[in-house]
Amino acid sequence: MTQPLPARPSELLGADLPALEHLVEGLGEKRFHARQIYHWVYARRVESFERMTSLSRPLREKLAGGHTLSRPRVVKVQESSDGTRKYLMAAPGGGQVESVWIPEEDRLTFCISPQIGCALDCHFCLTAQLGLVRHLTAGEIVGQVLVLLDDNATRARGRPVNIVMMGMGEALHNYDNAVAAVRLLADAGGVGIPRRRITLSTAGMAPGILRLAAEPVRPRLAVSLNATTDAIRSRLMPVNRRYPLDTLLDACRRYPLAPRERLTFEYVLLRGINDSAVDPPRLAALINRHQLRAKVNLIPFNEGGGLDFAEPSTESVQAFRDDLLALGVPVSIRRNRGRDISAACGQLALTAAAGRDAAVGKKTPTHN
Ligand code: SAH
Repeated sequence: MTQPLPARPSELLGADLPALEHLVEGLGEKRFHARQIYHWVYARRVESFERMTSLSRPLREKLAGGHTLSRPRVVKVQESSDGTRKYLMAAPGGGQVESVWIPEEDRLTFCISPQIGCALDCHFCLTAQLGLVRHLTAGEIVGQVLVLLDDNATRARGRPVNIVMMGMGEALHNYDNAVAAVRLLADAGGVGIPRRRITLSTAGMAPGILRLAAEPVRPRLAVSLNATTDAIRSRLMPVNRRYPLDTLLDACRRYPLAPRERLTFEYVLLRGINDSAVDPPRLAALINRHQLRAKVNLIPFNEGGGLDFAEPSTESVQAFRDDLLALGVPVSIRRNRGRDISAACGQLALTAAAGRDAAVGKKTPTHN
């Protein structure tokens, strides 16, 4: 089956192999050239047709005549004191998007965005304040990875790269493009990032989880749980009214896992709201009742942007972790990387507010 080409039919970044085969045949050329082009675009990461030297000059000229390979353009890079780098990029289709490069001792993590803004309106998240500006195409999603890889080529050398689709937006709300991007990223003949190193994070769109469960190429799944009762979760995350905990966790149980693989439940700790001593046992009970193989990733709330929530105390974070461990639930605490440059979880929004204005053609305001 041929995947539809991205928004503009002349744009080749984001096209998969069948789409490229369709294209070269349409140009009156032999089909096998599609594989060569695919290799140049995703594995060799060239940005111009001119550099595809295994193709004949006439084919390169034909391609360059009517097609583009547009990556997001880096507008601004901010570096945190902990080495995290936040990229503001202009998306080829308009608007701006943020991606984050997080170096760790033994690996690198790229946090990329599937949308500009977000429609889901989680009340503790700054991206929500933008509303949904637009979906990104598969090429614009993969393009963020290519930009980050090239911009950090020397620093990245030899270290494995993890991709987390957890930046701005909700991947399962932009399902087709997000899944097309995962396929291109995971393809050993393309970008070549092993699927076990690609994680898609969702606020809990249960039907999307079920659809993803049936995909031939599946990322690891992370679900932002953030509460242990429907009452609290619905107050924090309106999506819970459509897909309450039972529905969500039932979908999670149907997500196929490789041996030793676990689902991740992200849990943003909000002081006085979801961080009390009653929560860990309720969380463990939910996991057990739904027979889930899961680990919990605790994320202390990142303040900023005037949201009406407070960071949990260090003691309550430790206690939450210890209680879960005592109940047999594997748990980790996410370090707040890049907070000084507003690159941490839930903080991708301020500079990208410019994205919305650019998307609707307004003058870009300056932000402090
Ligand atoms: N839509 C996806 C991905 C974007 S949010 C999702 O909901 O999973 C990425 C993670 O950041 C989620 O786990 C979310 O709960 C968390 N998050 C959002 N705002 C935050 C904040 N202010 N502080 C800490 N974590 C936050």
